[in-house]
Amino acid sequence: MNKEELLKFVDCSFNEKKSIDIVSLANTLGIAVYSEIMDSDESAFIVKDGEQFKIIVNENQNKERQRFSIAHEIAHFVLHKSHISDGSKIGRESIDSLDNEKEIEADDLAANIIMPVKYVDEYLETLKIEKKTFIKDEKIIKKIASNFAVSKPAIILRLRNLGYNVAYI
Ligand SMILES: [Zn+2]
Repeated sequence: MNKEELLKFVDCSFNEKKSIDIVSLANTLGIAVYSEIMDSDESAFIVKDGEQFKIIVNENQNKERQRFSIAHEIAHFVLHKSHISDGSKIGRESIDSLDNEKEIEADDLAANIIMPVKYVDEYLETLKIEKKTFIKDEKIIKKIASNFAVSKPAIILRLRNLGYNVAYI
């Protein structure tokens, strides 16, 4: 699956459910997902083991962070597969890490997998929130975050990047 096919698949999934099942998306791409206990500063990595790609996510992080981390590694798989050599661990904190430009690309695609612009806009419309609305109620932000099953910082960053007016809370 290339990026466009992936985003199409994600769009179909959101048509059926309000948030994406990230592990099943990984499995659809042929990637196995495991969790293990890692240092608190680590989030996840992707590793190629023969022909099998595996994403290992830090079990110590909350579920919402784990979902974003898995999406980030899925993005590396789709965008940077050729850079993942056999046995190398590609993670934000690992020595085999990719360059910063590729990390930004992966974060951007991860955001589009977990919080697609179309569905963010649609959901905010149901809450009667427009781009010019000043979003300052923490309860509303928590509600939007929980709708997409993401962390509060992740939804705040996403909303700001999409041009919504979110207070610094
Ligand atoms: Zn990365």
